[in-house]
Amino acid sequence: MEQAAVLTIDRKIGIIRNTRSNKRKEKHMATGMAICKTTKKMVALGAAAMTLHGAFGGEPLIYPASDILAYAKTLEPRLTEIRRDLHRHPELAFEEFRTTAKIKETLSALPGVELLPCSMKTGCLAEIKGSRPELGTIALRCDIDALPIEEKSGVPYASLEKGKMHACGHDGHITINLGAAMVLSKFRPERTVRFIFQPAEETIPCGAPKMIEAGALDGVDMIWGFHINATSDFGNVGWYDGIVMAGGHTLEIKVHGKSAHTAYPEYSVNPIVILSRVVADIDSLKQTIRATRPYSVSMMDMECRPVAHSASPEEGRLVVKTRYHEPEVNDHLVAKIKEIVKSRCELFGATFDIAEEHGLDPTYNRPEMGPLVRENAAALGLPLEHIFASMGGDDFGYYGWKVPAYYMTFGLRTSPDFAIAHTAKFKWDEAVLPPAAAMFASCALRREYPSLPGGCPADAPSKP
Ligand SMILES: [Zn+2]
Repeated sequence: MEQAAVLTIDRKIGIIRNTRSNKRKEKHMATGMAICKTTKKMVALGAAAMTLHGAFGGEPLIYPASDILAYAKTLEPRLTEIRRDLHRHPELAFEEFRTTAKIKETLSALPGVELLPCSMKTGCLAEIKGSRPELGTIALRCDIDALPIEEKSGVPYASLEKGKMHACGHDGHITINLGAAMVLSKFRPERTVRFIFQPAEETIPCGAPKMIEAGALDGVDMIWGFHINATSDFGNVGWYDGIVMAGGHTLEIKVHGKSAHTAYPEYSVNPIVILSRVVADIDSLKQTIRATRPYSVSMMDMECRPVAHSASPEEGRLVVKTRYHEPEVNDHLVAKIKEIVKSRCELFGATFDIAEEHGLDPTYNRPEMGPLVRENAAALGLPLEHIFASMGGDDFGYYGWKVPAYYMTFGLRTSPDFAIAHTAKFKWDEAVLPPAAAMFASCALRREYPSLPGGCPADAPSKP
C-alpha cells in the first residue's frame, strides 16, 4: 500500500514536471498531497512536498543534477579506496595526524582546490574560489576522529589500530566531503566553497569551537553538515527543520561532610546519606518540568569512600549529565539541581561545590534551509526521509549559533537489526558514498539561496 502510494507520487511528480500550465500543476500537486496523507511513509511525504515545490521553481542547481550524480557515481571506486584506507587507520580526537595528511594529499591533487592556513594541529580547511565570489561563501563541514572501541565488524578492511575504530562513520564523512570536493572541482561553484575537516567531534572539549577560533567560519554565509545514519533507510536523505540534535551539560557535585567512627555515626555528616537524597530528588525533577521537546537527566558517576575500615566517608562526588533540545529546560534543570544540593547539604550540615561543563550546543537546523535540502535531493532523484529529532549530540551545533546551518543525514540501514553507530559491529555499504557526495556538493551549487541574517535568528530557541 505504502509502496503503491510512493509509486503514484513518483508518477505525479513526472506529470508535474512535464506539465506547462500552472493551473494543471496545482491540480496534480493537490492530488499528490492527498496521496501523501494516506500513507505513513515519510519518504513519500518529503519527496512529494519538496518536488512539488521544486516543480514550480525550475531546476534548483546551476548544473543538471543528473550530470552531477552521474559524475559522483564514477568516483565510487576511488571513494571506496579512500574510505577503506581511513577505516584501517582510525585516530582518536586531536591525534588525527595521518588522517589529516591523507585529506590534504587528496585535496591538493584536485584542480581549483586550495588548502588554507589553519592553526590547528589536526584537521584542515580548504577552499574552491567561486566564479562569482561576491555572492558569498558556503561551508561544507565534516568530522574526522575515531572512537576508542575495539572493532568486531568482521569487514576485511577492519581497523589495524588496537582499541580504535571508526565506529561513528567519520571515515565515511571525510570521504563524502572529499567526494564533494571532487564534484565541485569538476562542477565549479559560483559561490566560494569552504571545506572544513574538523577534528575531535567525539570528545569534550570538542573540536568545533577550536575550528571556529581558527577561522573556519571567517567570511562564511551558510554552513552545511551531515551524519551517516544507521536509523534511516539506506540511501535516504534525512531532513528535519528546527532543533535536530540535543545539547548537553555536565555537573560534578562534591559534598564535603565529616567522618566518624561507625560506633558513633551521630558525630558524622555522611555524604552517602546526603547524595542518596540528592539523587532521589534529581530523579523526581521531571515532575517540575513542562517541556515540549525531549530532555534527559542521567546519574553518571558516584563515589563515596570510607576514610578507614571503621570510619565513614568524608567526601562524596556525584556526576550528573543533562541532554536537552530547549535551552530553557536545561537552565531550569541546572538551577533546580543546584537548589537540591544546597538544601540537602544545609539540612545535614555539609558544604559543597559544583563544577559545571557545558558540553554541546543543540544543533539547530534553520527551517529556511530545509526546502533547499528537499529540492536538491529531488533534483538528484534521492529519496527523502523526515527523520526524528535525536537526543544524540554533534558539535556541529556550535557552527549553527554563528551562521545559518543545516545538518542532514544519509541513511545506511539495510536490515531491521542493523548495528548502530558507536558499536563494535557497525558496518555499512559504501554505495552510499557517491550519492551522498553529490547531495553534499549540491548544497554549494544552488541557483538561489534564501537571504538569511548571520548568527542565531530572533525566532530561534535562545542561545545556550
Ligand atoms: Zn559521529
